[in-house]
Amino acid sequence: MAPALARACTRAWSVQVQRRCRHVAGARVPGGVVRLPARVVGGTGQDGRMGDVKLCPCRRGESFDECCGPILAGERAAPTAEMLMRSRYTAYVVGDTEYLSRSWHPDTRPADLALESAQRWLFLEIVATERGGPFDDRGTVEFIAHYKLDGARDAMHEVSTFTRVHGAWVYVDGTFRA
Ligand SMILES: [Zn+2]
Repeated sequence: MAPALARACTRAWSVQVQRRCRHVAGARVPGGVVRLPARVVGGTGQDGRMGDVKLCPCRRGESFDECCGPILAGERAAPTAEMLMRSRYTAYVVGDTEYLSRSWHPDTRPADLALESAQRWLFLEIVATERGGPFDDRGTVEFIAHYKLDGARDAMHEVSTFTRVHGAWVYVDGTFRA
């Protein structure tokens, strides 16, 4: 990887940097994320309806109020690393920066979590999980988050690492997959 690109990869996670870095297998996702997509409302899953019940954007098949809603609201803790991953995806979809910050490890959490750009999240695909269960202290989740930006579809493929802080699952960092 060119030094300049390597620097860019570790500095910010803007859509532009993400676009350049995500093709570099093994590129680290920086903990110090500065910019995040702003217009994340309207993910495909969010639009999905089951009668009058709004399906959760993470597409577990339950309603938002039974799935990620209570976790984002702080009423319920994510029982597994995968569920925390799902809830964070949902937070991107609905633009809940407060929850994104709260569910991020204090050591890697960005100081400023501003949302930007017209990135529109479409759906989440969980590829694999390792540990991260109710009796684990660490876990990884490999996922592909599909989105649309400037009229073009794209996807972010990442292996995320999770751990617990005071018993609650938090996101630590991740590695991009080509
Ligand atoms: Zn959900």
